[in-house]
Amino acid sequence: MQRITILGATGSIGVSTLDVLARHPEKYQVYALSAHAKVDELAEQCAQFRPARAVVGSADAAARLDALLRARGLAVEVEHGEAALCSIASSAEVDTVMAAIVGAAGLAPTLAAARAGKKILLANKEALVMSGQLFMDAVHEHGATLLPIDSEHNAIFQSLPASYARQPGAAGVAKILLTASGGPFLNRAVETLEHVTPDEACKHPNWSMGRKISVDSATMMNKGLEVIEAHWLFGAPASLIDVVIHPQSVIHSMVSYVDGSVIAELGNPDMRTPIANALAFPERIESGVAQLDLTSIGTLQFHKPDFARFPCLALAFESLDAGGTAPALLNAANEVAVQAFLERRIGFRDIDRVIARVMHENPHHAATSIGAVMDCDARARAAAQAIVAGLAR
Ligand code: NAD
Ligand code: MG
Repeated sequence: MQRITILGATGSIGVSTLDVLARHPEKYQVYALSAHAKVDELAEQCAQFRPARAVVGSADAAARLDALLRARGLAVEVEHGEAALCSIASSAEVDTVMAAIVGAAGLAPTLAAARAGKKILLANKEALVMSGQLFMDAVHEHGATLLPIDSEHNAIFQSLPASYARQPGAAGVAKILLTASGGPFLNRAVETLEHVTPDEACKHPNWSMGRKISVDSATMMNKGLEVIEAHWLFGAPASLIDVVIHPQSVIHSMVSYVDGSVIAELGNPDMRTPIANALAFPERIESGVAQLDLTSIGTLQFHKPDFARFPCLALAFESLDAGGTAPALLNAANEVAVQAFLERRIGFRDIDRVIARVMHENPHHAATSIGAVMDCDARARAAAQAIVAGLAR
C-alpha cells in the first residue's frame, strides 16, 4: 500500500488524482487531503476516501469542516494553516505527496516533503520556478524522489533514458522540445487582446484546468514557467530547450538526440495519464483515459512561437538567463497580475506590462536561502500590487 497526501485535493489536479486512486483501492490509501476554502468539496472527498487528516486554510474553514465530518460520523483530524500542510507532507505515515497547490503557497509544504525524503509528484511548478537550485538540492540531500506531473515534463521524463542523471550531454540529448498548444488566443488578432475577458482567457481549446494556469496558458507564461521547470528538473540550459507550438496537444513533448532520433510521448490531453504514470512508476496502471486514436485526429501541426504576441514567454526566458531570484520576481508578479485580471481590475495585456515593470524596476540577487527567495517574493508582490493599483485607476 502506498500512503498518499494530496496537497490541493479540491483543485483540477487533485480531483484527477483522486479519480485515478479510486480505480486502484488495493494499491493506494489516502493519508491526508488539503483544500484552501472549498470545505463542502473536501468533506465529500473525506467521506469517500477516509483520510486520517484534513487541512484547510483558516480556523473558520476548519470549524466548518469539522462540523460537517462529525455530522457524518467521520473521524478525521482537522487542522489549518501552513504548519499543518507541512506536517501532512512530511509525516512518517506518508510515502507519496501529490504537490497540487497552485502558486507560491505550495512551496513550504512541497519543500517539507523533499526534506522528509518523500516521493513527490510535482504539479506545483511555481514552487520549483521560485526556488530552483535550493529545491533540487533539498531533493538530493534528503534522498527524495521527484516525478513530474506537468504533462510536458512527464513526457520528457518518459522520453529520456531510465538512468538519466540530469546531464543532457552524457545522455546524447541534443534538444528538449517543449510543446505548447498556444492557448485560446493563438490566432486571435493581436490588437483585440487588450479587451479579452477572464472567461475567454480561461476557455482552453484542449485542457480543462484551474483558472490561474488557464490564464497562464493564454499569455503563454505557463510555457515560460515550464521552460524554467524543465531547466531544473532535467539539468538543461535554456539553449537546449526549444518551445514548439503544437495546437492539437497530442504530442506532450519530445527529446531530440544527437543521432537524429526524436522520442516523444503522445496521448489524449487528460492529466490522469501523467498522474497514473508518476503514481505507478516504474510500473503502469490503468488511468481511465481512452486510448489515443491517431486516425481520428488525422493531422498534427507544428510551428515556432511568436514572442511579440506572447511577451510573457520572452520575460520568462529573460528571468532564467538572469538567474538567482529573478524567476521568483517573475512568478510573484505574474500571480498578482493574473489575480487582478481574473478580478477584472486590469486588462489582459496589462499582465505582461506589470511583470515587465516588476522585473525591470526591482533588483534580483543570488538565491542563497529560502528566506531570501521569500523576501524577494514579498517585495515583488508589493511592487506588482502598486502597479496594478495605478493601472486600475
Ligand atoms: P486549481 O486552482 O484547480 O486548484 C488549486 C488547489 O490549491 C485547490 O485545491 C485549492 O484549494 C488549493 N489552494 C489554492 N490556494 C491555496 C493556498 N493559498 N494555500 C493552500 N492551498 C491553496 O489548480 P490546478 O489547475 O489543479 O493546478 C494546481 C497546480 O498544478 C498548479 O501549480 C498548476 O500550474 C499545476 N498544473 C496543473 C495542470 C492542470 O491540468 N490543471 C497541469 C499542469 C500543471
Ligand atoms: Mg503543462
